[in-house]
Amino acid sequence: MVILGIETSCDETAAAVVDAERRILGEVVLSQLEEHRPFGGIVPEVAARSHLQHIDRLVAEAMKRAGLGFHQLDAVAATGGPGLIGGVIVGVMTGKALALASGKPFLAVNHLEGHALTARLTHGIDFPYLLLLASGGHCQLLAVEGVGRYTRLGTTIDDAAGEAFDKVAKMAGLGYPGGPLVEQAARVGDPARFTLPRPMKGKPGCDFSFSGLKNATRLLIESLPKPLSTQDGADVCAAFQIAVADSIADRTRRAIRDFKTRWPTGRHLVVAGGVAANTLLRQTLIRLGNDGGLEFLAPPLSLCTDNAAMIAWAGLERFRLGLVDGLDFAPRPRWPLDPHAKKVGFAGV
Ligand code: ATP
Ligand code: MG
Ligand code: FE
Repeated sequence: MVILGIETSCDETAAAVVDAERRILGEVVLSQLEEHRPFGGIVPEVAARSHLQHIDRLVAEAMKRAGLGFHQLDAVAATGGPGLIGGVIVGVMTGKALALASGKPFLAVNHLEGHALTARLTHGIDFPYLLLLASGGHCQLLAVEGVGRYTRLGTTIDDAAGEAFDKVAKMAGLGYPGGPLVEQAARVGDPARFTLPRPMKGKPGCDFSFSGLKNATRLLIESLPKPLSTQDGADVCAAFQIAVADSIADRTRRAIRDFKTRWPTGRHLVVAGGVAANTLLRQTLIRLGNDGGLEFLAPPLSLCTDNAAMIAWAGLERFRLGLVDGLDFAPRPRWPLDPHAKKVGFAGV
């Protein structure tokens, strides 16, 4: 079984071919980072135009690397949402056109399901498992029970973790994207010089919040002499990073307890999303997993951030169960994985 996947929901244009033996036969990811950098963040119109410009070539390249023709595919999968709607439309239209032209079924994949199932592609693990998804657009803890079966244990009530990293980097004059730059600065910083709040720590449930911490960081930066010295910037970054890690640790510790009680057969704690690149967070999660009796697994970073292999794989998992979509599928800017989860004011969840 061979599936082509297309991803265009954010700022990566990507195409990949995977098979049922968990092999990635061909993969390409084009980051739009340089196009958005001058604006200090993602500009939706720029993103959509860029997806449109590159997607045909990238699909052709992924197929070429796989050494396959369209007639050899079993189905075509594209991210159907959630995400920036202009980009999602480009991917869905491309996927539908390829499916129609080659007479193959079309699969609309939830981008979050792509992230959620990646560990089954990379590590072949069984359901159920606990997932922390921490990216530029999302911060959630999910019990992954099966294909299409997710229970959200917690989500952010305001900003995503990656978004907070990006904003703090901007405030500290470090540039975009912020996560790697904040981490790099924090390496020579003293995390104990300033104390920033640990949002939600000790609160019931497993929800996250980062806007208060972001604001406290802004006030701290404003209180320091300008221009900000390298050491002051590094100390702020270190204080911010440890506050994020501490807050995520507190929420994840609670989620592990909840997960172990409700899904006692589960054995793994899995991470996905760009924030999973953060070394301090990884170390924290390994420790939490050990303490809580779950093995910590992290897919390689290229499969933690947005990519099309995860979309092809999620499509394959759905296709195996006979779950195909019609060509009348309408792109969804919002598409919660857990339809029963309470609504919170955050895009895409
Ligand atoms: P989504 O996947 O939710 O649609 P996205 O495409 O912005 O959104 P990713 O590409 O998975 O998310 O991850 C990018 C985010 O990860 C950015 O916010 C970036 O700052 C953050 N990030 C990357 N590296 C690090 C790091 N080392 N430490 C902390 N955050 C990081
Ligand atoms: Mg991205
Ligand atoms: Fe993503």
